Amino acid sequence: MPVDFDTIVNLSKKRGFVFQSSEIYGGLRSAYDYGPLGVELLRNVKEQWWHSMVRMRDDVVGLDSAVIQAPQVWEASGHLASFTDPLVECTNCNNRYREDKLDNVDQCPSCGKWGMFTEAKHFNLMFKTHMGPIESSDNVVYLRPETAQGIFINFENVRRTARLKLPFGIAQIGKSFRNEITPGQFVFRTREFEQMEMEFFCRPEEAEEWFRYWIEERRNWYIDLGMKPENLQFREHEQDELSHYSAGTFDVDYKFPWGFDELEGIANRTDFDLKAHMEKSGKDLTYFDQEANERFVPYVIEPAAGATRTTFAFLIDAYTEEAVGDETRIVLKLDSRLSPIKVGVLPLSKKPNLIEVSSKLADDLRRAFPVEHDVTQSIGRRYRRQDEIGTPYCVTVDFDTLDDQAVTIRDRDTMAQDRVSIDKVKAYLAERL
Ligand code: ATP
Repeated sequence: MPVDFDTIVNLSKKRGFVFQSSEIYGGLRSAYDYGPLGVELLRNVKEQWWHSMVRMRDDVVGLDSAVIQAPQVWEASGHLASFTDPLVECTNCNNRYREDKLDNVDQCPSCGKWGMFTEAKHFNLMFKTHMGPIESSDNVVYLRPETAQGIFINFENVRRTARLKLPFGIAQIGKSFRNEITPGQFVFRTREFEQMEMEFFCRPEEAEEWFRYWIEERRNWYIDLGMKPENLQFREHEQDELSHYSAGTFDVDYKFPWGFDELEGIANRTDFDLKAHMEKSGKDLTYFDQEANERFVPYVIEPAAGATRTTFAFLIDAYTEEAVGDETRIVLKLDSRLSPIKVGVLPLSKKPNLIEVSSKLADDLRRAFPVEHDVTQSIGRRYRRQDEIGTPYCVTVDFDTLDDQAVTIRDRDTMAQDRVSIDKVKAYLAERL
């Protein structure tokens, strides 16, 4: 059964995945802080993306560009003129909405009144600030609304220094900021979020083929990390839905508790961005193909995913309730590469001779895996906690350990237990994690 929204939000808060930002001051709407487990899960999602998009390939390199860039970047990219959402306000209850996200453009979802909306105003989503001590129109800068432009403006720097030949990609993970009109659904839509974007540059005539290639690569990434295929949907944009720069876009949608919604967009951005920056900066961003003796502006295929949103989707997808006898067991069936903690080390009791053995074992395992050494509460409760946070293996040190120098290792999903000698525990886990 699909998990409902409140259950997953409550689990996130209760176990320390995600907290409301500025909670002690009453909370800042739509901003969230990632707790001890959330930060590990988020890092693991980003690490897996980086691993598959950069480390495992010899045609993609990484970049980490500044959040604040020259304002001309956003003029050239079109964000200043057209990165807007249509804002409408209900004149009865004063609630504001994004017109394109309303179920019915005539009826207010808050007060239910008909025909009370103002004309749509085009509201620019970029956060504006000033660089330096004086606030004037000469020193306005923007927080980047996407990581992609940092890649385009470094196209030539990266190509030259990394001595790259087409086709090649430049990948970046980092924070982006959008002054969303209607943030919400927990961490799904926030004003500060993290993106994982890759710009893959190629010859124009090969763009369509690479576009199809990246759609498949991205599908495989989600499924390989355990996302249920029936909860994923790849949807091609209609001609009238396409962004100003795109010759084709696929949305990767996930089945959230409120329905299918976007995790990632994969677009054929053509030569729009490089051309726009060439025009604005006056710099040559063409590519010279020595073999063909030809100079041209490359096309670009962009898989652009949200790290925070994807982390939320993995959390939802992993949530499972199982009947065990007449109790319900809650388990996060996360792929072990994503699990915040890989091994729970649990001494059966707080007796010093058991703790001595379990601490030593935990310290040893910590060199290889993220470990939680948990000595509080009853053993049943500790198993429950580890199941709920998705720990794939629990190692229990019991009274027999003192005699047989062996421990019990429990598998999260099957709950099967193996008795393993202490000196073999690391190898046993390494084989499975
Ligand atoms: P939406 O239609 O949901 O506003 P978008 O199509 O504008 O998103 P893109 O510009 O394609 O989004 O950004 C790429 C990815 O960045 C999205 O698929 C999403 O995962 C993530 N993203 C975009 N906006 C937000 C946000 N406000 N909060 C969290 N993640 C976001």
